[in-house]
Amino acid sequence: MVEGPTAKAHAIRISKEFNGETVNDLFIKSLKRVHVPLKEFVGKQFVNTDSLGKNILLFFNGLAIRVHLMMFGTIHVYGIEEGLLKPERLVRLLIKGDGKKLVVYNAPIVEADWAHIILNRLKGELGPDPLSKDWNREKAIENLKMFGNEKIGVVLINQSVIAGIGNILRNEILFRAGINPERTVQSLSEEEIAKLIGECETLTQQFLKLKIEEKRIKPLLQVYNNYRGTCKICGGKIRFYMQQPINRKTFVCINCQRF
Ligand SMILES: [Zn+2]
Repeated sequence: MVEGPTAKAHAIRISKEFNGETVNDLFIKSLKRVHVPLKEFVGKQFVNTDSLGKNILLFFNGLAIRVHLMMFGTIHVYGIEEGLLKPERLVRLLIKGDGKKLVVYNAPIVEADWAHIILNRLKGELGPDPLSKDWNREKAIENLKMFGNEKIGVVLINQSVIAGIGNILRNEILFRAGINPERTVQSLSEEEIAKLIGECETLTQQFLKLKIEEKRIKPLLQVYNNYRGTCKICGGKIRFYMQQPINRKTFVCINCQRF
């Protein structure tokens, strides 16, 4: 599952690997989200890649392509003469440059448009992203409080509140902040909210560092996938259940995260 740090690490890698390329040819499998004629891309230079929440954005002199990898998508850069790693039917995006080609497999969302249109729309839909230079902690807190009656475990993965938090981060952030996911947002003290936001910042950076180094995130995980285990802090039982209505895997220490 792609969370914000995974998308950011892909963006940093692709910026380096595809650097200096000019588009000679472009293929997008589904034209459903293609809002500019694809020939507009031809001759344009690749500028860089960035991420916003779980989205990867490829920029080409005024134009952009947004990719969301969801569960099974992958993104690669190959030499122009190199064969594809996976079957052609899985290709969702193929950009041929001079020396290299960029290939996206299996991604459910590939959108092409003018860069400012894509950015404006995404910024309207998404909350602040802790990994973005535009991160705004006050805005994130304000967004959280708009869902006062809802459970914090549910609100935390709402991308319009804070962008880039997926289910693994959600579990680990709540555990580190000592907050039970079933509590409502309005039941949290100012200190608890500050702790929660602080953990969003620290943990996304820690995840990103490991992703950039292509290391596993497992050593960072304290509760996620710790089925029937014990808490690394207090030795208490870890409870596993599916939180509703989001129906997502949830792991809670019965001592550290009291209801
Ligand atoms: Zn504990």
